[in-house]
Amino acid sequence: MKILELKNVNKDYKLENKDKFTALSNINISFDKGELVSIVGESGSGKSTLMNLIGGLDSDYNGIINISGHDLKDFKEKELDDYRKKKIGFVFQSFNLIPHLTVLDNVTIGLTLSNEKESIKNHKAIEILTKLGLQNQLKKKPTQLSGGQKQRVAIARALINDPDIILADEPTGSLDSGTSLQILEILKEIADDGKLVIMVTHSEKVASVSSRIVEISDGKIIRDEKNEAYIPTVKENRLIQEGQSERKEGHLSFLSAIKLSIHNMWASKVKNILMAIGVSISLISMILMLSFGSGLTGYIVDQAAEYSNPTIVTISKSGRDKNGDKLQQGNEINTQAIMSGAFTDEEIEEISTDINNYLKDKTDFRIVYDQNSEEKNVSYGFSVPAFTMGSISYIPTEPDENDEIKEVSTKLLYLYTTPPYYTESKLLTDNGHLSKENEIMLSPAAAEFFGVEDLEECVGKEVYLNIAFDKYQLRIPVTVSAIIDVSIFSGAMIMYIDYDFLDSSIKAAQLQQNDEQTGLVPTLLFIETGDEKVKNIIEDYIKSNRKDLSGSVEEQLVEMFSEMLDTFSIALTVIAGISLAVAMIMILVVLYMSVSERTKEIGVLKSIGARKKDIKLIFSTESFLVGILAGIAGIVFTLIIGGVLTLIFNSLLGFAPLKMMWYYFFEALALSVVISVIAGLYPSSKAAKLDPVESLRHE
Ligand code: ADP
Ligand code: MG
Repeated sequence: MKILELKNVNKDYKLENKDKFTALSNINISFDKGELVSIVGESGSGKSTLMNLIGGLDSDYNGIINISGHDLKDFKEKELDDYRKKKIGFVFQSFNLIPHLTVLDNVTIGLTLSNEKESIKNHKAIEILTKLGLQNQLKKKPTQLSGGQKQRVAIARALINDPDIILADEPTGSLDSGTSLQILEILKEIADDGKLVIMVTHSEKVASVSSRIVEISDGKIIRDEKNEAYIPTVKENRLIQEGQSERKEGHLSFLSAIKLSIHNMWASKVKNILMAIGVSISLISMILMLSFGSGLTGYIVDQAAEYSNPTIVTISKSGRDKNGDKLQQGNEINTQAIMSGAFTDEEIEEISTDINNYLKDKTDFRIVYDQNSEEKNVSYGFSVPAFTMGSISYIPTEPDENDEIKEVSTKLLYLYTTPPYYTESKLLTDNGHLSKENEIMLSPAAAEFFGVEDLEECVGKEVYLNIAFDKYQLRIPVTVSAIIDVSIFSGAMIMYIDYDFLDSSIKAAQLQQNDEQTGLVPTLLFIETGDEKVKNIIEDYIKSNRKDLSGSVEEQLVEMFSEMLDTFSIALTVIAGISLAVAMIMILVVLYMSVSERTKEIGVLKSIGARKKDIKLIFSTESFLVGILAGIAGIVFTLIIGGVLTLIFNSLLGFAPLKMMWYYFFEALALSVVISVIAGLYPSSKAAKLDPVESLRHE
């Protein structure tokens, strides 16, 4: 039976400027099963061209190539891939083994492309390799084999799918004559097992062993003769048993692609590890940034929560008008500035009425600001940056080095009246209490001021509180009642005083000068709602409708801080984005280079039936693995760096503004995979589109 027939086959190679070169003209020839055909001819006569046409590697020809009754021209791409995979086995002069795979894996690759089971694959491969005398070389890499061994591996690879036709293009061209004969013997055996073996050879000696010699010259067949002296080998143990194997219908699986990719990546581990580290750097910076962001925000929010009370609304002036526009205000802290931050009675009335109106249909709670009423739920507070208007001083009991007793004084950074929700739990001293009349509380910086080691020693100290309020100079003798926690501001001199006490002290000064006793002006209003929900309703109302008002100084500070942090985060996100883009381009370049390095391998894979999809899958899997590798590296490094940073921060600041959420790692890993896969799209589709003939020619 004729299993292969060529009718009027012509092949032109297109050259530049629309020229063409006729490599084959009017080829008419047919082949039978069991033939061992030698194609001979000068170099450049068209032998390889003919092989590529028969093998389905090149579809650009005229004429008919008939395979078991089907015209190759009618084959769709998928059928052509299948044809190469199942009907044809290629053997090349330069062996074309895949260097990073073992002998066994090089042979099973054809079955891997059909998603054959591991055990069946290995069993078949080992059987063939054993018959070819390679049973002890299974785990070796191609570079560890001799030329003859390499070619036997290539023959095993060609045989694994039990093809009908073996195409061997100068299979002995790179081998010495002894080894050539061995290979020839194997090919002869294959033919005698009932396959069609077509081999290209230069050597007349090799040709003389075959059953038929076809000579080509300048693209034409000039001789075609049978070798009458050909004697088929008779052997019990056939290389391939006829119809022994069911051909598997599957395709390359993701798992196999991963296995192939791991082999290849392992072969160039340094490159891949460097690439993964490169990508991981941007991931590390991203995770650390996010962690710092949430760590700092969390810390500040905690601080704010500590400073506020769940049921008390604090109101101050925001320094803006009702439209949210900034009011004209100098930077100086003077009486006028303080007064502009203070609430007049009319303003308190207006604000209370406004909020009460809003609350009307929402809750029963109403603001009662009348300080004489039994039911009043508004109390006053005063807070001011005090460095121009306040200081504390004391007269030491011991003289200094100049034998003088001089009053020691320090300016106050901030002066607060104690908010109604402050409790003893904020005190840092066991022996202290919240300040009442004739008392003040100080920040931990007081210890430095008094020159003592222990905060407890500050309690009970007698000092003068010097305040310039309006035109009045107050000098009030007070006792330090406690040292109070001011969190991150503990290094600054901050003072707390009872509102009523400060108020009456000012009134006393006014009385002394026979002035009207207006007393202290409130810059803070505290509304005790007794209910968290009501508090939230009022706060939400103020936030969205009263741009002229804001919360407590601490709350304002938190807000300012988180605004700053937001801007900072945006800047850092942009930087992280840029570094990710750079990482992506790096992956793209490396994979692109890998495609050109592996051009030959791609050609080989295509010759054994890999579809475009399979090639794409192999390369995309590699970029996917790079992404995973980079993600894991990023996570590990971040954990290490984060741990070290936490230790450093804890020892320096007593807290670590670094909060790593598990989902940051997940996001980083996902991002790493996504950018890697995207970066791999172009190289892998380029690999898939490579022309098999050109790829095989590639050196
Ligand atoms: P052989 O295998 O017999 O040495 P080939 O089949 O490789 O010869 O080539 C036959 C002729 O076709 C040669 O002259 C060669 O230069 C030419 N040829 C092969 N491939 C191409 C190509 N891609 N473009 C143009 N000419 C080609
Ligand atoms: Mg050739």
